[in-house]
Amino acid sequence: MKKIKAYAAQNAHSPLAPFIVNRRDPRADDVEIEITHCGVCHSDIHQARNEWGASVFPIVPGHEIVGRVSKVGSGVTKFKVGDKVGVGCLVNSCQSCSSCKEGLEQYCENGSVGTYNGIDRDGERTYGGYSTQVVVKESFVLKVPDNLPLAGVAPLLCAGITTYSPLRHWGAGPGKKVAVIGLGGLGHMAVKLAHAMGAEVTILSQSLKKEADGKRLGASAFYATSNPATFAKLEKTFDLIINTVSVELDWNLYLNLLRRDGTLVLLGIPNTAPTVMAPALIFGRRSLAGSLIGGIQETQEMLDFCGQHGITSDIELIKMEEINVAYERMLKGDVRYRFVIDIESFNKAV
Ligand code: NAP
Ligand code: ZN
Repeated sequence: MKKIKAYAAQNAHSPLAPFIVNRRDPRADDVEIEITHCGVCHSDIHQARNEWGASVFPIVPGHEIVGRVSKVGSGVTKFKVGDKVGVGCLVNSCQSCSSCKEGLEQYCENGSVGTYNGIDRDGERTYGGYSTQVVVKESFVLKVPDNLPLAGVAPLLCAGITTYSPLRHWGAGPGKKVAVIGLGGLGHMAVKLAHAMGAEVTILSQSLKKEADGKRLGASAFYATSNPATFAKLEKTFDLIINTVSVELDWNLYLNLLRRDGTLVLLGIPNTAPTVMAPALIFGRRSLAGSLIGGIQETQEMLDFCGQHGITSDIELIKMEEINVAYERMLKGDVRYRFVIDIESFNKAV
């Protein structure tokens, strides 16, 4: 057992502050990772503030982890000391149910284990990447393509895979019109990935403030959702709409922007929901769907796709001590486009 420096929320109302976590000694199938960077996902805020009602404190958030292998268990075959690796939202699952067998561990019938705020299969609580080291089962560790910088890769482990998976599942590609609602961490990755897949991308943001950025990221059109004319102009336009907004929206307005057989996929997880009007679905045979992160195999596929296309996240690198200010900025939609914590400097600080 090793004592590791971390940052934790002690309850739903306290800011994050220094904390010590115990990490197990690597077992035969474990990889020990010196964390260099950890991305800051809006889910970290939801959970640090118990907005989903399932938080067990203290919580050490962080599920966009990258770093270097510092030790491997005796049975590890895929990794060696020094390798650049990543860990996303999952650190375990039953690995025997139908979902796990299909590589969809996020939908494990027996409950997958989250990287933080989870209970592992041995009964241990899990603590996330706002910490200097983590020990993870080999089968949940990802290889980071050599050509990509670690800091920009960190957000791919959640924001990247969470948007890649539905884009692939609903066939984003040439000839498809995709809209992305919300240009934050998930949103900007959705734009980059959909563009790289060959789809025509439109951004639906609260205002036009980020329009130049949106076009640079790969969108061909950008609209403000605060302007009611947007909804009239774009009626029946899109094959696929990806909603990344963390607060409640009127989905009916967005369903009307789908063409026949189009799908609105919910990724954002507010703890409230509007009423969905049946006609918004019926007239046009439209679907309202949801999608949860992605399995390990697909996460590796996404990282390799990003390696081939030179895609990383646009980041603002912060110090561990700046995390509470970063949360406040994210709540205002003021992030361009993902905060990433410099864990190496946190590690060195006394
Ligand atoms: P984020 O970086 O904070 O981005 C959210 C974006 O929502 C903002 O940048 C903003 O973009 C937009 N927004 C629209 N109305 C808003 C309002 N009233 N207040 C604040 N923002 C508003 O969050 P994220 O990390 O991308 O996460 C987004 C959501 O996805 C969260 O609910 C998170 O928990 C969830 N999530 C889901 C999964 C999954 O597996 N389904 C995985 C990870 C995260 P504009 O300014 O452009 O409008
Ligand atoms: Zn996340």
